[in-house]
Amino acid sequence: MTISVVIPLYNEEENVAELHRRVKSSMERTGREFEIIYVDDGSTDRTRSLLEEIASNDRSAVVLSLRRNFGQTAAFAAGFDYARGDVIVTLDGDLQNDPDDIPKLLALIGENDIVSGWRKERKDPFLSRRLPSLIANRLISKVTGVSLHDYGCSLKAYRREVVKNLKLYGEMHRFIPALANWYGVKIAEVETTHHPRLRGKSKYGISRTMKVVLDLITVKFLQSFSTKPLQFFGPMGLLSGLIGFLISLYLTGEKVLLGRDIGGRPLLLLGALLIIVGIQFIGMGLLGEMVVRVYHETQKKPIYVIKKVSRYEDK
Ligand code: UDP
Ligand code: MG
Repeated sequence: MTISVVIPLYNEEENVAELHRRVKSSMERTGREFEIIYVDDGSTDRTRSLLEEIASNDRSAVVLSLRRNFGQTAAFAAGFDYARGDVIVTLDGDLQNDPDDIPKLLALIGENDIVSGWRKERKDPFLSRRLPSLIANRLISKVTGVSLHDYGCSLKAYRREVVKNLKLYGEMHRFIPALANWYGVKIAEVETTHHPRLRGKSKYGISRTMKVVLDLITVKFLQSFSTKPLQFFGPMGLLSGLIGFLISLYLTGEKVLLGRDIGGRPLLLLGALLIIVGIQFIGMGLLGEMVVRVYHETQKKPIYVIKKVSRYEDK
């Protein structure tokens, strides 16, 4: 089993040297063959030159320098694409994750597809970071059906196939377990050590909460309805259209049978609105169905994943 360690860094000049020393010594202790892939996400400080210096003296280190700051998810994706190991381990480059925990994750990857770190005693401010993340983890677990205590922990280990089959967009790296669950994965959690950030600055603020919520909506949609959008929009459309139709029918009855004036009735507006909204929803669902076909067929994207084929073989 060979290991690729992927670490994204954005302006972490004060952490680079110690990070490399510690990750390398942890990896050497596992006794496995490994590579450490540092992804410099367009740093504007000395991060890149320090990393390049390390890589020029050490065969186990590789630096991928992105052209500009693309964000942590893109940095992970770059590392995943480059990685050659059977198992891919990710962690942050600010030493908040402890490289000494890597062997613990690797010990469990044998019988799992993903092993996720859980920062049980997290060393971040409570109100601005830990509380939003507590709520987020509950919500994400509930909505995606993949229960994890700590989606946000970067320290994770994946079997190669898991990440090689994923396309990541936006800020999706934290949702990898939920996304991968689509094709059936076994996930384990281990408690890991977490340290306060000693050097450098955090790259995120409270605004991330909103992004996470929006990403969650995308993930849920992709998980449940991406291959059948009409099943998602259709019921809402039918219901809305049906209620609108009944309202209009009722008003027509009043007008035709009782000769009442219906021009100024708010109900008329509601009925018309519901019918239009219903048609819109069905139309959106149908458009979605077209998009899904184009999406899957132009890119030869399968709608299933086979793990293994067992059949009779002539001996
Ligand atoms: N990071 C990155 N690109 C970015 C933002 C962050 O590569 O645009 C890296 C950063 O250098 C660190 C990791 O992602 O190694 C996690 O970032 P940070 O520590 O700022 O996040 P926090 O721990 O505060 O959630
Ligand atoms: Mg950090």
